[in-house]
Amino acid sequence: MVIKTFQDIVDRQKNIEKLEEMKEYIEKKIQELKKEEIKEQKNREVIRSITYQLERVKCGKPSCKKCSNGTGHGPYWYAYWREDGRVRSKYIGKELKDLKY
Ligand SMILES: [Zn+2]
Repeated sequence: MVIKTFQDIVDRQKNIEKLEEMKEYIEKKIQELKKEEIKEQKNREVIRSITYQLERVKCGKPSCKKCSNGTGHGPYWYAYWREDGRVRSKYIGKELKDLKY
């Protein structure tokens, strides 16, 4: 059996209704792929703009010796990124691992 190319299939199809069906199917496929591409691009942009920062934090407790002498806690890693025009952050932990982005 000869494997038909896309052009063979289209050329041999004389039924307009079937051809319209093919056209609709192809257009649907194109739209789906375009949507996926846009989604991927957005994800990639978010990933690209993430900055990781090592920071010391203050717990705010008046009795805390670490905070009162100025050293604070940590340092801990934080991720910063921009999403929908807003800066967002997420606490990661002492080690920069198990990153989900
Ligand atoms: Zn503290």
